[in-house]
Amino acid sequence: MKENIFGKQLKECETLMVEQGEPKYRGGQLFQWLYNKKSEDFSEMTNFSNKLRETLSKNYSLTHGKIKEIQRDSYDGTKKYLIELSDGECIESVLMHYQHGDSLCVSTQAGCNMGCKFCASTQGGKIRDLTSGEILDQIFLIEQKEKLRVSNVVIMGIGEPLDNYDQVLKFIRIANTGFGIGQRKITLSTCGLVPGINALSEENLQINLAISLHSVFQEQREQLMPIAKKYGLKELLKAIDDYFIKTGRQVTYEYALMDGFNDRDVDINGLVKLLRGSQNHLNLIGLNEIQEVAFKESLQLNAFFQELENRGINVTIRRKMGREIDAACGQLRKKRNKDKVII
Ligand code: SF4
Repeated sequence: MKENIFGKQLKECETLMVEQGEPKYRGGQLFQWLYNKKSEDFSEMTNFSNKLRETLSKNYSLTHGKIKEIQRDSYDGTKKYLIELSDGECIESVLMHYQHGDSLCVSTQAGCNMGCKFCASTQGGKIRDLTSGEILDQIFLIEQKEKLRVSNVVIMGIGEPLDNYDQVLKFIRIANTGFGIGQRKITLSTCGLVPGINALSEENLQINLAISLHSVFQEQREQLMPIAKKYGLKELLKAIDDYFIKTGRQVTYEYALMDGFNDRDVDINGLVKLLRGSQNHLNLIGLNEIQEVAFKESLQLNAFFQELENRGINVTIRRKMGREIDAACGQLRKKRNKDKVII
């Protein structure tokens, strides 16, 4: 099978051209065709000779995934896409419309091994990592389909991005330099892989980092997120401090409020202790409930927010999008996989 050229970064495009006996700058032109002009076929690359176009198509493919299903929330216009990859695996992307532009939540793995208890994406484990091209393709396909430009990207869909570090980094760099999405408009969310956070702090990037915190207590975090057993809260908080020192970038803690679990006074006190005087920011989220899991959405969201704000904490509530569709990440893919088994 021919290698897909979509997903190659500038240096790789240059090397590839030199290997074909072409000057290095042709690599820059190829990069432009792929990401800036969003070419769908080698024949469109009109500043290349016929011979070069033929050689490229003989040695490489230029293919994209397929959108198999779209769900639309009639209340806020959020759309969820089920995308089929070249090997038949499916992933999800979610398009949200904000005043500041269109934001796309992308997946980085087919499935996930992290085992967070509130998440549908992990229930069948990880099937495989996505390539940088497959992550970029989510932007490509949805921009083509909807005739719009994605202005913000959140790497928060199916998968743990830092568990697919190299491909995700490649994706970020191409999304920035190829698609022209500003680094500050890209947010990477992790459940707390400390080595990945440490490595990311050395990359000289201006992206936003979000950490799934969900509890300020080690024991509770372990109950919710198995990764907390490997990288404890102390170690995680140290990595976040180091990240801020190295990058100067504020980190966001994501906190999904669950009824009776992490919405108590003791949780507010713990958050105040953690965040008072810190540069970092707290984002409260209404839980997207999934079946088979006992955690329920807390009704205390507004009161919880108010109390934290009154106590001087830098806190916001993330507007819940896609209430009418299967908004929790992984639900549509799970349904599709179930249907596959039935067939
Ligand atoms: S929340 Fe994210 S890291 Fe946790 S299991 Fe789900 S996809 Fe994986």
